[in-house]
Amino acid sequence: MQAKASIDQTQLARVFSEFIEPSYVITDEETMRPYECDGLSAYTQMPMIVLLPDSVEQVQKVLRICAQYEIPVVSRGAGTGLSGGALPHPDGVLLCLQKFNKILHIDTNSRTARVQPGVRNLAISEAVEKHGLYYAPDPSSQIACSIGGNVAENAGGVHCLKYGLTVHNILRLEMITAEGELLTLGGEGLDAAGFDLVALLTGSEGLLGVITEITVKLLPIQEKTKVVMAGFDSVERAANSVAAIIARGIIPAGLEMMDSLAIKAAEDFANAGYPRDAEALLLCEIDGTEEEVDAHIALVAEIFNQFGASTVRVSHDEMERSLLWKGRKSAFPAVGRIAADYYCMDGTIPRKHIAYVLAEMKAMSKRYDLRVANVFHAGDGNLHPLILFDAAKPGDFAKAEEFGGEILELCIKVGGTITGEHGVGVEKIRQMEVQFNEQEIAQFHAIKNAFDTLQMLNPGKGIPVLKRCQEYRALTSHNH
Ligand SMILES: Cc1cc2nc3c(=O)[nH]c(=O)nc-3n(C[C@H](O)[C@H](O)[C@H](O)COP(=O)(O)OP(=O)(O)OC[C@H]3O[C@@H](n4cnc5c(N)ncnc54)[C@H](O)[C@@H]3O)c2cc1C
Repeated sequence: MQAKASIDQTQLARVFSEFIEPSYVITDEETMRPYECDGLSAYTQMPMIVLLPDSVEQVQKVLRICAQYEIPVVSRGAGTGLSGGALPHPDGVLLCLQKFNKILHIDTNSRTARVQPGVRNLAISEAVEKHGLYYAPDPSSQIACSIGGNVAENAGGVHCLKYGLTVHNILRLEMITAEGELLTLGGEGLDAAGFDLVALLTGSEGLLGVITEITVKLLPIQEKTKVVMAGFDSVERAANSVAAIIARGIIPAGLEMMDSLAIKAAEDFANAGYPRDAEALLLCEIDGTEEEVDAHIALVAEIFNQFGASTVRVSHDEMERSLLWKGRKSAFPAVGRIAADYYCMDGTIPRKHIAYVLAEMKAMSKRYDLRVANVFHAGDGNLHPLILFDAAKPGDFAKAEEFGGEILELCIKVGGTITGEHGVGVEKIRQMEVQFNEQEIAQFHAIKNAFDTLQMLNPGKGIPVLKRCQEYRALTSHNH
């Protein structure tokens, strides 16, 4: 067997500086510091080197060199990920795609756009607005997060209930393999020959390749959009009305829920007109033609009243609609004001179990002695419990993590999954072992090996090692 070639940080920086602008090859500690974590800031790790390439050829060369020396490579978009996916590897390259920030082509006839991975999610809609178009998936972080990061995480958002996740809104990808080869996946049409590798790469969390170009689908801006807000004095009634709306055949553009702690925090922050004393609040957005919107809004308001809403308010103009959304959209920072720190979880459950799971979480909150605020995509059952803690208190974060893990295991128990949109990263490795059996995890490894034989891309994340799985199962079976 051939021995692995070795190279140190200084030599490596010299090699990269031969084809990347030297100021984009970063090795000094102070300049690397901002890259030590992503949105999961409880986990930090300095990389060996940070690179900011600006061409596909440079990315190819970087990967070839890294393959030669078996150097781990972690891709990074905007670093807003919440599961530690872009956490650097101590002996590796942090490959930042932020310089790939061009919208390459907008095709209004086919309603598509070809974009580079570092383009911000919101920048796509801003660029095509003049053509009466927009890009539907809208993570709350859309002002900052990159479309490459969205593809890698299969990001969702408020409008994904009606329009689908990232995977449903992209057609074609260009990617570089671990060996530096350029591949084109998918095509401009609705279907492409062969395995659906676009879907496989979507949500692959930087484990299978580096995405260097994306063709996104664009949608026409709807004629009319209205939102109806409802306050409830019982979580159960609010949750049941969510199921009733969908059961009536209405697919809202967004259907969001907040619990009492989140309502108070958001109202104090945004003055959106939310009922501060409500136990649960729903925001249901309907878009479409004028007739469609008016008819569905009336029906949704009727359902809310049937389920005993204490307040029902319909937006009458764009200003009122934005105000009602302002509270929801600023809910995360608003919750950030009422605690030293919060830990954002992400799991998905069947809609019918929302009330049960929220009640269970309340009981856990007492047990862990940590408050929890819930702000989430109720329409698709995607929960976002924000666990409040104080990082300065010894043991508090460990407790929050334990609490978060227990919530995820509850999601699995009721037939849901451990990630709705934030990915597995380093955060949910343990729960992967609960969600999947050994054969299933072995299939994930087989796919990883097919793309990345040397295990260079984002090693240690997304898929648990099988030995760890067996140990975890043995441990939990003793405990139960
Ligand atoms: C306040 C807040 C609100 C949020 N709300 C939402 C929400 O509503 N919905 C949602 O889905 N997410 C949400 N997120 C999470 C996050 O914004 C998304 O996961 C987003 O898709 C990450 O994009 P990014 O560019 O920041 O990626 P990064 O954090 O940089 O990377 C994320 C992952 O993608 C990989 N990656 C990045 N670029 C590439 C590439 N070009 N090729 C291959 N792999 C790559 C990385 O290795 C990493 O594993 C939120 C985050 C915050 C902080």
